[in-house]
Amino acid sequence: MKELNPYAWIDRSLATIKQANWYRSTQAIESFPGAEATIDGQVLLNFGSNDYLGLAGDERVIRAAMTATQQFGTGATGSRLTSGHKQLHTDLELAIASLKGTEAALVFSSGYLANLGTIAALVGNKDAILSDRLNHSSLQNGARLSGAKIIEYNHCDIDALRQQLELHRANYRRCLIITDTVFSMDGDICPLPAILDLASEYDAMLLVDEAHATGIFGQTGAGIVEHYHCVGQPAIEMGTLSKAIGSLGGYVAGSRSLIDFLKNRCASWIYTTGLSPADTAAAIAAIEIITTTSQRQQLWENVAYFKQSIAARLPDLHLIPSASPIICIELPDAQTALAIGSQLRQAGIFAPAIRPPTVPTSRIRISLMATHQQLQLERLVTALGTIFSKTKSS
Ligand SMILES: *Cc1c(COP(=O)(O)O)cnc(C)c1O
Repeated sequence: MKELNPYAWIDRSLATIKQANWYRSTQAIESFPGAEATIDGQVLLNFGSNDYLGLAGDERVIRAAMTATQQFGTGATGSRLTSGHKQLHTDLELAIASLKGTEAALVFSSGYLANLGTIAALVGNKDAILSDRLNHSSLQNGARLSGAKIIEYNHCDIDALRQQLELHRANYRRCLIITDTVFSMDGDICPLPAILDLASEYDAMLLVDEAHATGIFGQTGAGIVEHYHCVGQPAIEMGTLSKAIGSLGGYVAGSRSLIDFLKNRCASWIYTTGLSPADTAAAIAAIEIITTTSQRQQLWENVAYFKQSIAARLPDLHLIPSASPIICIELPDAQTALAIGSQLRQAGIFAPAIRPPTVPTSRIRISLMATHQQLQLERLVTALGTIFSKTKSS
């Protein structure tokens, strides 16, 4: 009798992934967070970090995490509704609500869990979700988990969204529009004011994902909602503490009754352990820095400088339209993206190749930080120039 192996498909599946150049693996960053990263003993310029403001390595943030650990230990030791709730959590939630200009906020173990649980708590199988085609994985999977009818609309296309609402809204009980504000892989921005208008016109809820916007956009760093002067409008705002805020965790900000409801109905918040004291205190310290200093300004100067250098020196390079510190060079296929990623690496630069299935089109994704020096940006532009002039002539 043939020996059965119910796990044999895993190796076959891995082989297929490798054949398509979709295979991915981890690599250890051996250094302190910053503009340089040591990988395999090699010091590289780091253009692959979400630590936009350098707060993951900020002395004040580190000190807050250490003090909280000494005072409260390493773990929350329970879920928030049982034994894991601390005053620190309330302090952080008040700080987030204050930053966002909302009545209340709730922190989750990650942004991913915030999206999964919140979407699933807000809508069910009698309802519809309108979802931008390029939304983050956590929004897409939250939509699937909810059991609601999922209707995708073309990326940032307001007419398409209106058309879908016109066509489908009346057939469902509740309706939820979900969108990234800054799209994580392209770096462009959703047309928020127009989406808010449509939500109100069609009696739909709106959940915006501010993961890549919080700390960066808006007068006080609150995000795209603030950038578009839409604070106070009826939207549910979520985001992460793990990008510009330099810690770990996610949040939802909105009305007091929304937050109260989530505390009672959101499984990914109720049945999981509270955020650790270190992560919580680090996030509080980082939000304090974001609201009281202007680290953002250096970041935006770097974005402008880099874009000007590319336009002046490499006008033929195809950049995906972006209005954020995420800047992508579009490439024909995964193989080219991998090849250019490794040439950059040889030139001492870390800028990851992003491929399907993460994105529909392959690219090199560059994240700029406030902590990059102008000379380091120059080095990136020079390296790109050398690599692409070779690619063109070969
Ligand atoms: C990173 C990210 C998340 C997930 O946040 P984590 O806290 O890292 O789980 C959600 N949405 C978007 C758009 C993101 O970029």
